[in-house]
Amino acid sequence: MRIVLASLSAALSVVSSQAAELVERPPQFVAIAFDNCTELERWQEWSDFAAELNRDGERVRFTFFVSGINFLSNAKKTLYQGPSQARGASRINFGGSADDVRKRVAFMNALHRDGHEMASHAVGHFDGRGWGAGSWNSEFTSFDNLLTNVVRNNELAPDEGFAFSSKDIVGFRAPYLAHSAGLYTTLAERGFRYDTSGTMPSNAWPEKRDGIWRFNLAEIKLAGSGRATLSMDYNFLVAQSGAAPIASRREQFRRQMLDSYLSYFRANYTGNRAPIHIGHHFSDYQNGAYREALKQFARSVCGLPEVRCVTYKTLADFMDGLQPEMLAAYRKGDFPRAIEPVLAGVGETVGAGR
Ligand SMILES: [Zn+2]
Repeated sequence: MRIVLASLSAALSVVSSQAAELVERPPQFVAIAFDNCTELERWQEWSDFAAELNRDGERVRFTFFVSGINFLSNAKKTLYQGPSQARGASRINFGGSADDVRKRVAFMNALHRDGHEMASHAVGHFDGRGWGAGSWNSEFTSFDNLLTNVVRNNELAPDEGFAFSSKDIVGFRAPYLAHSAGLYTTLAERGFRYDTSGTMPSNAWPEKRDGIWRFNLAEIKLAGSGRATLSMDYNFLVAQSGAAPIASRREQFRRQMLDSYLSYFRANYTGNRAPIHIGHHFSDYQNGAYREALKQFARSVCGLPEVRCVTYKTLADFMDGLQPEMLAAYRKGDFPRAIEPVLAGVGETVGAGR
């Protein structure tokens, strides 16, 4: 009996290793997202950039984690009250004039219509680390109300409101990435599909916990430095220059971010294909060097045959469609690996130590 079992299990292991070889290589997903999303010039800039890249077909879709204060003009700020906060208080600027709000809504509607995703970055940009579910719920209710009532609150024309509803918002990134247990029960109760407030190794496939996909930012190598940072522009600012820009080293910092993103991409593309996560802000960190690096990165990788630069919602759709065995095979990289892609227009790598 023992012998029979042993040979049966040997036979099964042959079958399963053959099955593993039959798993097809998954696409390389790249998710590029922005936080806060206040500045109108930046809405214009990223709208133009997306139009440029998508001119001859679908190459890139962005996700925007928008703070709810953007839906409320400065004059009407007392309509908002954050959890345990004074009425009209926020950690970042309100939406400017009513006309600024109107223009911002128009940008968001156009991008949403073109297949980009609008998601939530809460409202007043408070640190929710100590918040229970009640506080998170209050903040999410404020977000929904500000979105739904943008016309009435800001005295806009009836057709100047949002072309989508709060039910279309299914993703979240916490301000300061500051999360608590109560956040996750709240997200699940309110029908959210994913959260992007955590961090994880750069080659980790996403996990679903408590019904919520965790699309965490990645711990990546800071090219040429032997140090690590998070795949987010603010973290580069801190790692490269202690949170303050240094104008004389702008070009060096731009190149280092580009090389870091490209190394992260190459490792995953030729490795287990774990999705790439990149988070930026509308703030003009490092005198625009990071925006240039991100554009160069997107131009180089988005549109390659096996690469899909998609919204987080699209990534959630893909993840929801995976059988558990398939995801397990992806985690292990149990599929024919790709060779290094040829990347156009990335120029000389300076001290990046690929
Ligand atoms: Zn933020």
